[in-house]
Amino acid sequence: MTNPLLTTWEAPFALPPFERIEDAHFAPAIEAAMAEDMAEVEALAANPAPPSFENTIEGLMRTGQTLDRVLGVFYNLAGADSTPQREEIMREFSPKLAAHSAAIFGNKALFSRIEQVWLAREAFGLTPEQDRVLMLVHRNFLRAGAALEGDDAARMKEIKGRLATLGTQFAQNLLADERDWQRALPEDALDGLPGFVIDAVRAAGKERGADGPVLTLSRSVIVPFLQFCPNRSLREEAWRAWVARGENGGETDNRDVAAEILALRQERARLLGYDDFASYKLETEMAKTPDAVRGLLMAVWEPAKARALEDAALLEERMRADGVNGPLQAWDWRYYSEARRREEFALNEAELKPYLQLDRMIEAAFACANRLFGLDFRALDVPLYHKDARAWEVTRNGQHVAVFIGDYFARASKRSGAWCSAFRTQRRFPDVQAPVVVNVCNFAKGDPALLSYDDARTLFHEFGHALHQILSDVTYDMISGTSVARDFVELPSQLYEHWLEVPEVLQEFATHAETGEPMPREMLDKVLAAATYDMGFQTVEYVASALVDLTFHEGDPPADPMAEQAKVLDALGMPKAIVMRHATPHFAHVFTGDGYSSGYYSYMWSEVMDADAFEAFEEAGGAFDPAMAQKLEEFILSTGGSEEADVLYTRFRGRMPGVEALLKGRGLAA
Ligand SMILES: [Zn+2]
Repeated sequence: MTNPLLTTWEAPFALPPFERIEDAHFAPAIEAAMAEDMAEVEALAANPAPPSFENTIEGLMRTGQTLDRVLGVFYNLAGADSTPQREEIMREFSPKLAAHSAAIFGNKALFSRIEQVWLAREAFGLTPEQDRVLMLVHRNFLRAGAALEGDDAARMKEIKGRLATLGTQFAQNLLADERDWQRALPEDALDGLPGFVIDAVRAAGKERGADGPVLTLSRSVIVPFLQFCPNRSLREEAWRAWVARGENGGETDNRDVAAEILALRQERARLLGYDDFASYKLETEMAKTPDAVRGLLMAVWEPAKARALEDAALLEERMRADGVNGPLQAWDWRYYSEARRREEFALNEAELKPYLQLDRMIEAAFACANRLFGLDFRALDVPLYHKDARAWEVTRNGQHVAVFIGDYFARASKRSGAWCSAFRTQRRFPDVQAPVVVNVCNFAKGDPALLSYDDARTLFHEFGHALHQILSDVTYDMISGTSVARDFVELPSQLYEHWLEVPEVLQEFATHAETGEPMPREMLDKVLAAATYDMGFQTVEYVASALVDLTFHEGDPPADPMAEQAKVLDALGMPKAIVMRHATPHFAHVFTGDGYSSGYYSYMWSEVMDADAFEAFEEAGGAFDPAMAQKLEEFILSTGGSEEADVLYTRFRGRMPGVEALLKGRGLAA
């Protein structure tokens, strides 16, 4: 039996042969590809020729081609169209692939060759891109601990293992606390709740074998409950349970887990030669230093706090009118804020939706890319992995640029959320490869399919990521497209969302499904105003969390994270009626893995840039200014990770971003 995953792909545009791939093909293909990769790496490490850029760094890039291709298909399908079999393969191969990658980073002979190329780099006459790639490969090995010897190497391995265990434990404790808490609700507690919350608490009651409705700590239930429940003491009880997750004592308490994680991270950073974990973590980011992060967060903090305090006074007035005395509390905010929103910014989703047809919004995203970058889109009739997925060929001046796949509808086999990934990324080495990019969303089906405004924003967001891949123009796939710093990668996507708000775009594409009329200006204004509602609250709860995260990872780790958290909030003058969006015992972003540790700020960092970057278009003459579009492509969308992000941004904008545009965008400017 030939395994189609391991053959040369002869479908149009070298797409994977989806119609021939069966689940049974994955495990043997991954096994074979891992073995091939390991043999290639070992041969490379054992090469008797003196190390050169060509035989070592480029050599390394030639290894693992089959593995990349096979995993590219597997991960995309496992996320967008999972089956029990695919989940089983995922469970089986996650630890195997982690060990595989650890073995490569731990290959002493290989690292020694990389180190020699690095030390002799001046002699090779490298291009700037080659120089960059060499630095990145060398740094990745160093950061993985490849240069450590003896006891240090052994300790590093121990730390990594313990951190993995603790991260899982943190997540499981949190899950247990969320799952175990429940509160039976009397029937009259349902008054004032919207239908979907009533349905959810009734369903939870049935599921848990209770007589009546039951409140749980699922985010999709507890947050709307706090928004709509008029019974203040019930709100307080629910709110207290919600913020106590991970802090309930006993087996599932996360406070000691967090302290141990922070101590081990610090030890790991020191072993690698960094002052503290924040310095280690931020080295590869655009922000680079803790001071830069703090500077940004503090610039936003004061205006956000001022707005939150103004809003608190308005909400407290409403509470007084309800006959409640005493100060506004954290369990009151969402309730009175929701009442205010309904009065001042009421948006009727049912009236809005017919203007946002999925197919018209796809056309809008394409049309903007055409006006900005001259890209054309032609629907393709090719076999894909699911009947709902659609493909387009992307061309420019008649030349093939990429294949774009849109997989927009929700289904049970799809993971929740929305994302952009690629079956293949753009590169010119070791062969010329055009990208095959996919956007996956979870929109409701319909005839025609209609979107909420958030959905339409998501569509533009993911398409912005897709353009970063489609317009990529580099030699090595290691730095292709979205292979950039975490605090830079959301710039193209968040920036693209701004074109959805351009009135002439909505005028042309937001047309009513039945009447064909464009969206009325008044509705558009309401949509835009609603988008910045309650930004004082949202910014305060976010920035407080980001500052606690940063402080935890600077200098010596706190022996008592809860005391440290209290100290940070006290110094900030945290408004009394707002708490951190994620307090330490349930701060999953920071403690279940390393993705956002001392990196929670990065959402806002990207937002600062997208607001500032779009302002560049407005200053230059409008959303479709051709000179700015050209700069955006030349310096940001085509360059991937070929240079430091601050260098790329400065070339595009002529300076580093300031926070003014963000404050304006969030409605927080003075
Ligand atoms: Zn994104």
